[in-house]
Amino acid sequence: MDLPRYHRLRSAYYRLEGQRCASCDTLQFPARARCGSCGGNAFEDHRLSGRGTVYSYTEMTQAPAGFPPPYLMALVRLEEGVLLAAQLTDIDAHEVEIGMPVEMVTRRLREHGPRGFLVYGYKFRPLLGRRLVS
Ligand SMILES: [Zn+2]
Repeated sequence: MDLPRYHRLRSAYYRLEGQRCASCDTLQFPARARCGSCGGNAFEDHRLSGRGTVYSYTEMTQAPAGFPPPYLMALVRLEEGVLLAAQLTDIDAHEVEIGMPVEMVTRRLREHGPRGFLVYGYKFRPLLGRRLVS
């Protein structure tokens, strides 16, 4: 990722900022030029809660350059209903369960050489202080 692109996306990366369609109220993340529901093109910024549940996950053993494997990728269903892809952190593969509560944290994603810029962004970890329901 080049620096201008990273700068442009920092609201999404740091604050999980999506958008709410002005026509139909649909929330979407990441931001897009058109609403995925009605095709509208007017939006308000909307900061998502960062809390959700694991919808599905996989362990990546082969990965694109800059993402040393293995790591865990998940589809997370946020409280607001938005489904997004993110890395899981602070958990081992055998501990992950479909439906487990997770929360967003900001972590270093990658670096561009020993003197290059660092890219921070969101990952999801198990919800701290979660009550176990039996
Ligand atoms: Zn819409």
